[in-house]
Amino acid sequence: TRGQDLIRDPYHNKGMCFTLKERQLLGLQGLLPPAILTPEQEVYFVMQNFYRWDNDLDRYIYMMSLQDRSEKLFYRTIMQNVELMMPIIYTPTVGQACLKYGLTLRKPRGLYITIHDLGHVYDIICNWPSDDVKAIVVTDGERILGLGDLGAYGMGIPVGKLALYTALAGMPPHLCLPILIDVGTDNEGLLKDPLYIGLKQKRVRGAKYDALIDEFMNAVVKRYGGNCLVQFEDFGNHNAFRLLEHYRNSYCTFNDDIQGTASVAVAGILASLNITGKRLQDNVFVFQGAGEASIGIAKLLIMALEEEGATTQEAYSKIWMVDSKGLIVKDRPSGGLTDEKLPFAQSHSPIDKLEDVVKLIKPTAIIGAAAQPGAFTEAILRSMAEFNERPIIFALSNPTSKAECTAEQAYQATDGRCVFASGSPFNAVTLGNQTFHPGQGNNAYVFPAVGLATVACDIRTIPESVFLESAKALSKMVSREHLAEGRVYPPLADIREVSTNIAIHLAEFAYWNRLAFHFPEPADKGKFIRSHQYNIDYETYVPALYNWPGHNVV
Ligand code: NAP
Ligand code: MN
Repeated sequence: TRGQDLIRDPYHNKGMCFTLKERQLLGLQGLLPPAILTPEQEVYFVMQNFYRWDNDLDRYIYMMSLQDRSEKLFYRTIMQNVELMMPIIYTPTVGQACLKYGLTLRKPRGLYITIHDLGHVYDIICNWPSDDVKAIVVTDGERILGLGDLGAYGMGIPVGKLALYTALAGMPPHLCLPILIDVGTDNEGLLKDPLYIGLKQKRVRGAKYDALIDEFMNAVVKRYGGNCLVQFEDFGNHNAFRLLEHYRNSYCTFNDDIQGTASVAVAGILASLNITGKRLQDNVFVFQGAGEASIGIAKLLIMALEEEGATTQEAYSKIWMVDSKGLIVKDRPSGGLTDEKLPFAQSHSPIDKLEDVVKLIKPTAIIGAAAQPGAFTEAILRSMAEFNERPIIFALSNPTSKAECTAEQAYQATDGRCVFASGSPFNAVTLGNQTFHPGQGNNAYVFPAVGLATVACDIRTIPESVFLESAKALSKMVSREHLAEGRVYPPLADIREVSTNIAIHLAEFAYWNRLAFHFPEPADKGKFIRSHQYNIDYETYVPALYNWPGHNVV
């Protein structure tokens, strides 16, 4: 590639950082403004533009256009400003973007596979320009964050998740592929939306849906191999559990909403033990919601409780769940007990309201993942503070508009005693002369690291133990100072180093447990993982020149 094409290609573009030599040799002279910038100066340009916008959706659009223009500059900017950028390219702003995805789109990104393509899915995957894909994030758009069915507008999620694969764990972007499976949408608003970019039809379900997913999984294996990771993201509840069970033992796959979320939430709970001075089994958990997130967390908690020495029965007795029909109890008159919920049904009389459940069960921790904003009422927060010295309050629903309570509400109602974390970020809260730093209990602390370790070590299937191991590793990265501030997660500013360290830890775990198939086994796992990470430095386009006798080129 030379001249104009170099500037137009986001993978090769170096913006105004092309050196004078490169400009002259590659036919770029005159096509760029005369100033020659350093990458740092370019990032400064980007940030000045970033601050000019007065709302986050425009900042999102600006950043996505930057990704289309210059990939290295995009990632350099994010990596150097993680705390500022995460809420833009990820939750909560990515949620706003998905609601209007057709409008925010400048250049299509990723692959769209529809139900009409049944029988031709492999051909579509072959249309993707890269021969080397190692990580796919796929959604069918049915449960985008807590916003519901957004159909093809859901593409913003795989795109955003994969940006974090690279920005947080250093997965090289050319190995990543975002995919949207469009089987229609049941969102009436979208079906009437003239700007909607997906199929305007009701969702196809049943055998035809399953056939499409199956064809997709096998087409991925056919083109990219059985070790190409497929991360399921934001599928509807029913499909999420089913597909995970169906594929997890024979394909390289995990469900981030169930397993990634579980890992991060359990990490937060494990870290909280250092604050409360309790054992895990001294805790009682009440969940608001019994969906992908809550059931995932509850199952991993059971594993952790058993590992601590609790019997299975003891472990289950610590977990209480409330769904849309009230407390989950055996033979519940209101019904609705699915196979996933059944093991958690307690022998207790039915209780409808979360407030009453909390008063009666007196949990040490309440965990919200039902996308019901305000579910943690002042009364609930106050009773948690009554019977707990350090009540644990996790408001995990995304985006911010769906959070069970705000950080401020939680700290206020508990006189600053609660251990609080939320799925989407909240700013620090000051009460009197004390400032509290709420943690972000978001799967972003785990899935990029799991992805990188899987790809680097050539892990073929991902057992549940990987997520418990990640949780333990993450919980150990919360320093004493952070615990003293009531934090149960490392600060977001450190999330890149945290992700790398989890990946290194998982590499050690994978080889030890014979999950890794990359041989020979690397002796230094740290060096090995880091060698797989994306380099944001621009490469030089001028080769090393040297002279021959009688032929001087330098
Ligand atoms: P899901 O599988 O659809 O589950 C939602 C659950 O909420 C269901 O069990 C549902 O009850 C329950 N629910 C609905 N209305 C309720 C009410 N009024 N009272 C009590 N429970 C109610 O969704 P999910 O995947 O678990 O996600 C839920 C939320 O968690 C979303 O906002 C999502 O963004 C968030 N999340 C956060 C993270 C993170 O990293 N922080 C990760 C994943 C998900 P029924 O079972 O009776 O229908
Ligand atoms: Mn998700």
